[in-house]
Amino acid sequence: KEKLLEVKNLKRYFKVGPKAVLKAVDDVSFDIYKGETLGLVGESGCGKSTTGRTIIRLYDATDGKVLFNGEDIHGKKSKKELKKFNRKMQMIFQDPYASLNPRMTVKDIIAEGIDIHGLAKSNKERNERVYQLLETVGLNREHANRYPHEFSGGQRQRIGIARALAVDPEFIIADEPISALDVSIQAQVVNLLQELQDKHGLTYLFIAHDLSMVQHISDRVGVMYLGHMAELANSDELYEHALHPYTQALLSAIPVADPEVERSRERIILEGDVPSPISPPSGCRFRTRCPHAMDICAQVEPRWQEARKGHWVACHLYDDEYKSGSNK
Ligand code: SF4
Ligand code: MG
Repeated sequence: KEKLLEVKNLKRYFKVGPKAVLKAVDDVSFDIYKGETLGLVGESGCGKSTTGRTIIRLYDATDGKVLFNGEDIHGKKSKKELKKFNRKMQMIFQDPYASLNPRMTVKDIIAEGIDIHGLAKSNKERNERVYQLLETVGLNREHANRYPHEFSGGQRQRIGIARALAVDPEFIIADEPISALDVSIQAQVVNLLQELQDKHGLTYLFIAHDLSMVQHISDRVGVMYLGHMAELANSDELYEHALHPYTQALLSAIPVADPEVERSRERIILEGDVPSPISPPSGCRFRTRCPHAMDICAQVEPRWQEARKGHWVACHLYDDEYKSGSNK
């Protein structure tokens, strides 16, 4: 498998007061392979959106690297080089209404990237491209001269997808692209994204707040907690053999259709709230809510390690040093 992106020790901090620093993304490392969908999940405030935005350079990185086809996109770059990266990496947003300029026609919204990157030689070519994109996302040319408010949520998300596709990207970050949509519409948008992926060989980072949403569409899934990556594995592996206590709790909260199975299942209820990311707990950040916390968990931050093949986790339960001699 070829890597499209390598995220290495990425950090993104925000100053939130004279002395307070919000470590929204704190030393996160993972790869994204060409043509895959990597799901990224976690509760709100865990840093998943900030991770996505820092990866495509909507935010500067506080530290760390993001390599795109081997090139560090946060390194020093000329305007021309930056433009090249901007074209390859696009974003689809959660709220397709807020992200579409209400005063622009659908045509101009979709053509913005075409104009910036000079992808059409004439007005006719520009129009043709827009019409084609509208059809690609399941709309039609009659929609081109209308305004965003004339469309339903699902249609607006299709417009957002057309806008992202307009510049022929390789990588798309979809930040909760279906969370704001009716359940009946969600599957349609997901199907569209999958069709487009097959057709254009796209690579996706699909951000969502719950595991059930990314289960079927992701090749691999990463779970974030308080600015850290807790676990990352192939989807099936993660759902069948979750290692991190946090992932196990998230999975236990997903209802199962079969009532027999549902009855016999054990729900893991997490105590307490998510601590503030401005002053996270020492050692393992999950320890204040972890049913398996040991003494060591308050003292030493668990390292990010490959516990099984392709299955990464940050938890002392899988550290040879600590796992046998539980010192609770
Ligand atoms: Fe729980 Fe300790 Fe593992 Fe953290 S390191 S998840 S507190 S067992
Ligand atoms: Mg978010």
